[in-house]
Amino acid sequence: MTRVWGEDGALLAETDGLAELESRLVAVPDVDVLDAHVHLGRDADGHELASEDLLADLKRWGLAGAVCFPASDPGDDRQFARANAVVREAADDARLIPFCRLNPAAPGWEQELATALAAGVRGVKLHPVGQSFRPESPESIAVVRAAGAEGLPVLFHAGFGARRLAEPFAALRAAAPDTRLILAHGGRGDARGLAAVFAEDDGVLFDTSLASLTDLVDLPPARICFGSDRPYGDYATAIDLVRRAARLARWSAPEIAGVFAGNLRRWLV
Ligand SMILES: [Zn+2]
Repeated sequence: MTRVWGEDGALLAETDGLAELESRLVAVPDVDVLDAHVHLGRDADGHELASEDLLADLKRWGLAGAVCFPASDPGDDRQFARANAVVREAADDARLIPFCRLNPAAPGWEQELATALAAGVRGVKLHPVGQSFRPESPESIAVVRAAGAEGLPVLFHAGFGARRLAEPFAALRAAAPDTRLILAHGGRGDARGLAAVFAEDDGVLFDTSLASLTDLVDLPPARICFGSDRPYGDYATAIDLVRRAARLARWSAPEIAGVFAGNLRRWLV
């Protein structure tokens, strides 16, 4: 059962169905919205998102654009080469911002990064749980430094299956201080530890995809960027989460605009 709340705190709806929830959800805030976290393509577990469907979603929810990277299948080369190419093709539409997914734990990431750079990639996505490496390992540090040397931010899966986060990411940040990091899912699982380390660090953002409300309200809004984790997450829930956090933590209008787009957009120019 999902409850939908109105701006004034009144209960608008109780529903079992996402479509029902979407149809009753109050409109997207009248601000620019940019999604930091979308997977394109097909996942082994059946989750799937095609670029046409994403573009239709962006239009429906009034989003300006979305950072896109592959789902969890790395392919035979183990470096996501095929899936990265699909993302780059989709990014012919300027609303889609391509990040390349790499595997620091397998050979060949240098070549895949070079291919992506030549094609205009805007960032790198790494998943320590999916590709079985530690964020602070030498191979991870090598990829993060290489991305930063090209001015690319690196978005890390941070939460769900990763036990400790604060010390590993503090060690990574110290080893690659010139690379800006986006920590996904609000650092869910060790958010308090991460916030203690990075609250004042303007080289780190936490995306809100599938994050916990209590974690988000404890973070400075300057450290937060909106994300959905489509197709694992959905826009109704993702937007509703940030609206609630904004109300609870009493973010100002400029802070809300920063969370929904500005904080991330500054990193993508
Ligand atoms: Zn994700």
